[in-house]
Amino acid sequence: MTKKIAVIGAGIAGTTTAYSLAKQGMDVTLIDSRRYPAMATSYANGGQLSASNSEVWNTPKNILNGIKWMFKKDAPLLFNPSPSIQKYKWIMGFLVATFDGKHKIKTQQTIDLAKRAREIYFEISVKEGIDFDLLKEGILHFYDSDKELKVAASKASWLHQEGMEWEVLSRDEVEDLEPAFKSSKNDKKIVGGIYTKSDASGDIHKFCKNMHRVLEDKYEVKSLFNTEIETIYKDKDKVILAAADESSASGMQFDQVAICAGIETQRFADVLGDSMRVYPVKGYSITIQLDDEESQISAPKVSLLDDPKKIVSSRLGNRLRVAGTAELAGTNKDIKQDRIRPLLGWVRDYFPGVSTENYTPWAGLRPMTPDMMPLIFESKAKDIFYNTGHGHLGWTLGAATGDLLAEKMINE
Ligand SMILES: Cc1cc2nc3c(=O)[nH]c(=O)nc-3n(C[C@H](O)[C@H](O)[C@H](O)COP(=O)(O)OP(=O)(O)OC[C@H]3O[C@@H](n4cnc5c(N)ncnc54)[C@H](O)[C@@H]3O)c2cc1C
Repeated sequence: MTKKIAVIGAGIAGTTTAYSLAKQGMDVTLIDSRRYPAMATSYANGGQLSASNSEVWNTPKNILNGIKWMFKKDAPLLFNPSPSIQKYKWIMGFLVATFDGKHKIKTQQTIDLAKRAREIYFEISVKEGIDFDLLKEGILHFYDSDKELKVAASKASWLHQEGMEWEVLSRDEVEDLEPAFKSSKNDKKIVGGIYTKSDASGDIHKFCKNMHRVLEDKYEVKSLFNTEIETIYKDKDKVILAAADESSASGMQFDQVAICAGIETQRFADVLGDSMRVYPVKGYSITIQLDDEESQISAPKVSLLDDPKKIVSSRLGNRLRVAGTAELAGTNKDIKQDRIRPLLGWVRDYFPGVSTENYTPWAGLRPMTPDMMPLIFESKAKDIFYNTGHGHLGWTLGAATGDLLAEKMINE
C-alpha cells in the first residue's frame, strides 16, 4: 500500500530517509525551513565515511581529557560552563553511559551501521550516478607521540574481532601511503599511524543536493523549502502539520511523518511527550580552495584523522576540508576565530605547501545523544517517527539509519 509520508528536514538524515521511502514506492514530501537542501549541519562537515571512527566517545579517558582541556582556549573539546539545565542533563547522561559497561556493544552496533551505510553510499553513487567527490582511499589515523600510537595499536585485536580493519603503520609506511606528509615541519614529525583501507570520504552537501534532484526527477518526491514546521499533531488516523507561517504546508495531512530535523528534533519530542536527549555539540571546519598547482600537490589525498588533536581532513576534489572541535555552547552558531586558528595552524604545520589564502570557515551543530547512539523510533503519538542523534557520525551512518527508519515505517 502506498503511504503518504512527510519527511521534515533535508539534511543527511532526511534525504536518506526520503530516498529509502521513495525507492519503495511511498508518496513522499520532503520539507525544510531553509531555501535549499543540507544548509544546516550537513553543509560542511569533515567528510569522513568512517566505520573506523565509530568508537563511541563515552570513555573515562575522554572525560579526563575534557577536564584537562576545560581551560584551554584552543583545545579540541570546549565546555562552556554557563548554566543550562539541558546541557547539565546531557553531561549527566554522558557520564552514566561512560560507566554503564556497554561501551563495546554500542561501538559494535555503530560499526555495523557504518558498514551498512558505506555499502549503500557506494551503491547509490553507481546506481543513481550521483557525484559527491567520493574518494575510496581509506582513512589514516596518525600520531606524533609513541605513547598515543601504542594505545591506539593496542585496540587492534579487539577491533579485528569486531570485523574492523586496524592496520598499524610505521612512520615510513605512513609517508609512503600519504607522501604529502614528507613536507611536514620538523617538529611535527609523525611516529606512525593506523590505516583502515575500506573507509572513504565525500562531500555531504553535494550528496544531499544531487540526491535531491534524483528524488524529484526519478522518484517523484515533492519538496517544500522555506517551510518551517511548527507543530505536528494527530487527528484520528492522520498526522497534521502546522507551519510557522500560513504556508501551503499548514493543515497538510499525511499517513505518517518522519522528523529528521537535526538539533531541532528535540523540540518536537518535547511537545509530543517523547523521551529524547539530543544536545547541539558545536564543531568547526575550514574549506581550502586548492587553486594553485603547489597546493594541489601538497594537500593530502587520503582522508586523515589526527587522533590526539581530534582533527580530520578530507580531499573533496580541488578542495581540502579540515574539521574538528567539540564545543558545548548551546545553539550558538557564531564562527569564533579562536577555533578556526588551530585548523589553519594544523594545515600550516603538516602541509606547509598548501596555501591557506583562500578558505571558508564554517560552524555546525552536531545533534548528539549522551551515549552517541542515533535514535530511530516511533512517537507515543503513533505514525510520527524520529531519525536523529547521529552526533559526530551523521554522514557515516545516515544511509543506514534512513533505510532502517523507512523499513520500520513501511512495515508498521
Ligand atoms: C565540524 C563537524 C564535522 C563533522 N564531521 C563528520 C564526519 O567527518 N563524518 C560524519 O559522519 N559526520 C560528521 N559530522 C556530523 C554530521 O555532519 C551530522 O551528524 C549530520 O550532518 C546531521 O545531519 P541531520 O540531517 O541529522 O541534521 P541537519 O543536517 O542539521 O538537518 C536538519 C534539517 O532540518 C531542518 N529543520 C530543522 N527544523 C525544522 C523545522 N521546524 N521545519 C522544517 N525544517 C526544519 C534544517 O533546516 C536542516 O536542513 C560533523 C559535524 C560537524 C559539526
